[in-house]
Formats: sequence, structure tokens, C-alpha cells
Amino acid sequence: MKLSVIGAGYVGLVTGTCFADSGNDVICMDIDKNKIEALKKGKVPIYEPGLEELIKKNYKDKRLHFTTDIKEAIQKSKIIFIAVGTPPTNHGATDLSAVKAVAKDIGRYMNEYKIVVTKSTVPVGTSELIQKIISKQTDLQFDVASNPEFLKEGAAIDDFMKPDRVVIGVNNEKTGEILKSLYEPFTRTGNPIIITDIRSSEMIKYAANAMLATKISFINEIANLCTITGANIDDVRKGIGYDNRIGHLFLFPGVGYGGSCFPKDVKSIIHVGKKHGYNMELLSAVDRVNNNQKALMPSIIKRHFNGKLKGKRFAIWGLSFKPKTDDIREAPSIIIINALLKAGASVVVHDPEAMDNMKKVFGKKIQYAEDMYNALKGANGLVLITEWNEYRKPNFDKIAKLMKEKVIFDGRNIFDKQQLLNIGFAYYGIGR
Ligand code: NAD
Repeated sequence: MKLSVIGAGYVGLVTGTCFADSGNDVICMDIDKNKIEALKKGKVPIYEPGLEELIKKNYKDKRLHFTTDIKEAIQKSKIIFIAVGTPPTNHGATDLSAVKAVAKDIGRYMNEYKIVVTKSTVPVGTSELIQKIISKQTDLQFDVASNPEFLKEGAAIDDFMKPDRVVIGVNNEKTGEILKSLYEPFTRTGNPIIITDIRSSEMIKYAANAMLATKISFINEIANLCTITGANIDDVRKGIGYDNRIGHLFLFPGVGYGGSCFPKDVKSIIHVGKKHGYNMELLSAVDRVNNNQKALMPSIIKRHFNGKLKGKRFAIWGLSFKPKTDDIREAPSIIIINALLKAGASVVVHDPEAMDNMKKVFGKKIQYAEDMYNALKGANGLVLITEWNEYRKPNFDKIAKLMKEKVIFDGRNIFDKQQLLNIGFAYYGIGR
């Protein structure tokens, strides 16, 4: 099948590449010239395990093409996926300007029947808006569909190739059948393709992210109460997780959820509720709890040093909003680093993949260590923010020798508290 994917970011690139790998002829289009030029040279602008190899293979085999020419992308494909960004506005609404611009171009340049599929996360009703925008530009026939993406950065290829489920929202059977056949290679193990109406499909994506964010804020709130009451969240988490109705997943306390999806999607669904005169009480609290959680680590650090952080030096391990990605959008690390700098401390950071992105945020205000142990030289404290695998079992004897003060702030509860206390470290986790 001839496809195009408009927007070659985390979602667009993975979508286009995986569809090409299953035998389709795919054009990935983006307005970012540098990105497209780099992709044509085999350089992948984001870090996503397995993606580079797959792009190179499919580009070489001529099933995957890159362009900045939206007219070409539209005219040469039957199915057009919109995968551009939908960032939050200052008021928590969703900025649909990129989606609308693409819809207008589709209407302007389409030369025959097309299926226009929204993969970007968009509020309920957006597909109808897209339909109206395209109709204003053309008299040609087309169908719209919603196909939200559930991939996780860091495991995106696997998630796309072996999805838990595929959701397709359509307003006619024929479009549903065509999209279903496109996804069949990825659902051979029996995982379902769920066909719904368009509005339900748009809502499913927000409901899923809101549910996951709720689990995180829930466990963070319980962890904070554990700290106050002397209970241990590690035991509490296990004690509730073995209840089949609850389960273990997404019940790890930490420094708050970040990334380009949960914060914006929770705010967006609250905003949609407000627009329709409905107050999303629970999700408003989920958002507030998360904001407080992002501020928790700086307050723990300040308390340890009796509020005196001026002149202190902190090593930070982990900058990306989660492991195995270079994405730092809404990352808790940014809030923690800003709080430390504001209090007069200096900061040395290490991350396996996200340092280049962080340089664009902090520039020379902080130092960057290429080696995780080098970051610790002369540090008054180590702050673990992202649980990359390489941080899980470090050499604590080496750490003790490098640091000026033996204090560890473990924002993900990955270290063995008792082991650290036994070898003379001061240790702070979340709810333990
Ligand atoms: P991204 O910022 O990585 O990529 C978006 C791309 O769109 C950029 O490369 C940008 O240059 C391009 N773009 C913007 N305007 C354009 C235009 N008019 N024409 C062509 N290209 C344009 O974003 P992302 O993380 O891939 O997210 C894309 C969408 O998918 C969002 O709606 C997001 O909420 C949703 N989503 C993201 C994830 C994720 O984990 N990142 C998961 C599921 C869904």
C-alpha cells in the first residue's frame, strides 16, 4: 500500500518505518529540513532503540522515503497519516495549529480519493474539524479516521510491531477494513484490532494516558504518606500489587511523571471537560499531585542541608523523562536542576543519551560529564532522577571515594537503602 506519514518525530518515524518494514511504500514528510536531510544520510535525529537499523534497512530497500515536499507526499499516497506534534497551550488546551495546517494542505493538494488518518493525540471532535478543513479546499472524495498511537518511547519499535491492541475509529466499514488490513501483520498473535466510532477512538487515547497518570499520582501520594507515617512503600506496593484487580504495573513512586504525553494529555482532557461544562475532579487532582511530586526532591535536598545549598555541588544521574530515550520534554530533571541552581548550588549531570538535548536548555549553566563517575568528583550529593540500567548497580566504594559528602537522593528507589546505610551513606528515597 502507498502511505505517507506527515511529521517525522518519535511517532511519525516509528510508524512510517514499521509500515515500510511490513512491505508498504512509505513517504515520511516533515517541515524540518535538517531532520529530513539527516534522515536521507542515515542519521536518525532521535534516540530510540532499534530504530536506526530499521530505517537504514528500509531506506536502502527503497520502501522508505523522506521529503519536505508535502504535495509529493499527499499525491503519491492513498493513506495519509497525520503524526505532527499537538503541544499544550498555556491554558492546558491542545495546540492544533500543525494538524490544521496539514489538513489544509491535504485538501489543497489531493488529486484523487484519500484516507486521512489522525495518529497525533487530538481532543474529541478533531477528526470532524479535519474533515471540514479538507472539504473547504476540495470537492474530491476522502475519508477520515482516528488511529491513536500507544507506543512507549524507549520501546517504540516493539510496541508498534507487537501492540497490545490497535484502535481504529471510522465512520464507515470500508475505511475500517482497509486500515485493519494494514495492521494485520502486527496482530498475528491474536492481539485485537478494535474498531470504534471516531469520537470514541479519540477518547480512548486520552482515557488510557489519564488512567496511567492516575496510577502514578496515586502511588506517589501513598508513598508520601508512607514517609510521614513510617510505612515502607516497597512493601505497600507489593502488598497491593498482588491483588489481581490492582496489578503491579505503573505503581512505582518517583519524582513525578514527565514526557511529551502524560502531562499534556491530562491537562487536555481536563480542558475538554471544562469546555463542555464538566469538571474533571479526579484528573485535576492527578495533575496537582504530579506538580507537587516534581517539587518534592528539591525540598528533601534542602532539608538535608538545612536550607544551605549555596556553594554545594550536586551530581545528577539521569536527565531524560524515562530510561532508553533522549526525550527531556517536561522531564522532572529540569525542575530539580532549576531549583538547585536557584538555591546557589552547582550541578554536574550525566545521562547516556539526553545530554545534547539538555545542553539546549541549560547551556553553560551546568556541567556535563561524559562518564557517570566523573560527575561525582567533589559532589556534596548524588541525585538519581532517571533509572537507566547502568545506574542500578554502581560501584559504591568508588562513589564514596569520589564524593565530598556521602549523600544519595534516590528519586526512583533503585538502590538498596540498607546497603547504603551500612557503608556510611546518608540515603533518601521516596516513601521508604
Ligand atoms: P515530535 O515533536 O517528536 O514530532 C512532531 C514532528 O512534526 C516534528 O518533527 C515536526 O517538525 C513535525 N511537524 C510539525 N508541524 C508540521 C507540519 N505542518 N508539517 C509537517 N511536519 C510537521 O512529536 P511526537 O512525540 O512524535 O508526537 C506526535 C504526536 O503523537 C503528538 O500528538 C503526541 O501527543 C502523539 N503521541 C506521542 C507519543 C510519544 O511517545 N512521543 C506516543 C503516542 C502519541
